[in-house]
Amino acid sequence: MFAGQASADKYTVRGYCALCTAHCATITTVENGRVVRLDPDPDHPNGGVICVKGKAAPELLYHPERLNYPLKRTRPKGDSDPGWARVSWDEALDAIAKKLLEIRERHGARAVALAKGTRSGTSVDDAERWLGRFLNAFGSPNWVSTTHVCNWHKDTGFSYTFGSNIPTPDLKNSNAFLLWGHNPSSTSLILAHDIVTARARGMKIVAVDPRKVGIASQADIALQVRPGTDGALALALIHCLIDETWYDTDFVRQWTNGPFLLRRDTGRALAEADLVESGSPDRYVVWDDRTDAAVIYDAAGGGFERDDVRPALFGAKAPHGKDGREILCAPAFEFLAELSSRYAPERSQEITWVAAEKVWRAAHLVAHSRPVSLYMWNGIGQHTNATQANRAIATLYALLGDIDRLSAGGKRGFSQNAGE
Ligand code: SF4
Repeated sequence: MFAGQASADKYTVRGYCALCTAHCATITTVENGRVVRLDPDPDHPNGGVICVKGKAAPELLYHPERLNYPLKRTRPKGDSDPGWARVSWDEALDAIAKKLLEIRERHGARAVALAKGTRSGTSVDDAERWLGRFLNAFGSPNWVSTTHVCNWHKDTGFSYTFGSNIPTPDLKNSNAFLLWGHNPSSTSLILAHDIVTARARGMKIVAVDPRKVGIASQADIALQVRPGTDGALALALIHCLIDETWYDTDFVRQWTNGPFLLRRDTGRALAEADLVESGSPDRYVVWDDRTDAAVIYDAAGGGFERDDVRPALFGAKAPHGKDGREILCAPAFEFLAELSSRYAPERSQEITWVAAEKVWRAAHLVAHSRPVSLYMWNGIGQHTNATQANRAIATLYALLGDIDRLSAGGKRGFSQNAGE
């Protein structure tokens, strides 16, 4: 789309930078058929700023060593000179297709794996869907992807907890923002821009960062955590929410596995198969406060086996097993309460170096300024406990009940800072 056409020799084009997954909106200036500069598009919701990599796009585009066409090796592997020779796209594609089909014929489709680079920091993002389709059509499930060290915990930890990647913060609709281990002023300019805009209209910020830099320096409460102890800090905040009943009870009952009974003897979830001979190992059990009896939750159907169930979140329960003996259990939520109480702010301040009083204030602020949105990233990924720390943070966010809630801060949506 042409944004303006000053002359036939010089004009601008609206588009986006494809050099990473952020997809910043851009205006490209073309002079005499050559891209001469890339600027941010101030009119686009995902516009306003671009990073130095985007600004360097013309240099990348016209770099003399940029690979612009297929090359074929003409000397055997191991030769100091591969003898690269330019070939047509048709010849390259035919040669690759022939080889792939030969492998499939001889060894089966699974003998082929597709390996690709990270979506986050490269331009493979736009092609990724097609790579997946190609692999599906070919018949192999073997998909290999690199990821940044900082992405594993963020993406996978959240997926383990929520079944999806970390949501993009909906800052426009948030009354508070919990920013954890991430400095968007340096790495995610549009997120930083959106945070500053939301703050100007009154959104509160709690930032967890060892350093008071970037957004953390503007936070209403900055929790300067000792590096590597984020998990303990998350559990301390969880304790505050549970101890003061500041969590979203309805959300926890309806949308989390907090009500599922866990066996005290094994620590595993109690299943229907524990209670009756013909029971399923995949149907879990809650305790209904209304009838004071065990009720089966059918995960496949997404509901309880009967209506009007009010699942218990606390208390020792002892349903009878299939051998007639009582099985001592408690809701998973009680286990979380027990674990987090061991990290109460007064205890965990020794670990995290964050004063207990500050942790209580932060918990109070987020619990009383809903909807709350959350974003966390790189800082946590520098440590060996990153995935579990992430899960603790994700659990904390679940207690606030704003994930995927319409008109709430955790609503999923498109933004520049989606991750891997
Ligand atoms: S952040 Fe990514 S999409 Fe935006 S300008 Fe930089 S490289 Fe391009």
